[in-house]
Amino acid sequence: TPGVRPLIAGNWKMHGSLSEARSLAGAVAQGKAQGQADLLVCPPYPYLLPVQGALAGSDVALGAQDCHAAAKGAHTGDVSVPMLKDCGARFVILGHSERRADHGESDAAVRAKAEAVLGEGLVPVVCVGESEAQRVAGEAEAVVAGQLAGSLPDGFAAAGGVVAYEPVWAIGTGRTPTEADIAAMHARIRAELVGRFGAAGETLRILYGGSVKPGNAKAILALPHVDGALVGGASLVAEDFLAIASAV
Ligand code: PEP
Repeated sequence: TPGVRPLIAGNWKMHGSLSEARSLAGAVAQGKAQGQADLLVCPPYPYLLPVQGALAGSDVALGAQDCHAAAKGAHTGDVSVPMLKDCGARFVILGHSERRADHGESDAAVRAKAEAVLGEGLVPVVCVGESEAQRVAGEAEAVVAGQLAGSLPDGFAAAGGVVAYEPVWAIGTGRTPTEADIAAMHARIRAELVGRFGAAGETLRILYGGSVKPGNAKAILALPHVDGALVGGASLVAEDFLAIASAV
């Protein structure tokens, strides 16, 4: 999107050791070229602080993979947005399909978490995407439009929120939609954002995620309304992640 700085975000999921997290973050920070796309890495919770240390002095941003909607309280095992902010996180991935599937997260739950993220001045990266059955049934755009309507809070655009389109069947599978299908979905998401938020929706970043690799990044990132990528597997290898960033 003209005038929009692309964002390449790495979702490390539940991978790696402490020493691997440190060295991966250090390699990303060292390898980032000036003027390149904005870069974001999202390590597992216990590695946020050490990764923050490894990123120090670089302009690679730190993010978390989830949060609780409450600022504090009796929620054993959960982590609040103020805690993430304390650890240096600036972004929070929300509503990833693995959280929607593993933890039954609804659109309403994602929206409540996004409100909490906005409340602390952090940026939500809200994930949406259809299942394979929904795509085959011709329902992909309607499903995604419904997820956007239910998951995005009213303050989303004012805070520069990020949407990540991640077709569930393309995550970690090596399969991707056709370029035409990605472009059509991103155009639909843009239309939904403008419909909901007006002119502010024109410049919100819409990332594509699902089996982005160095080999397909250039073609995907060149599509209209693709303002970056959310990268899983390939974000665990610094040179692959940096190659994707260089493809913008
Ligand atoms: C993801 O989980 O956000 C993702 C896009 O994973 P992968 O790149 O491995 O498909």
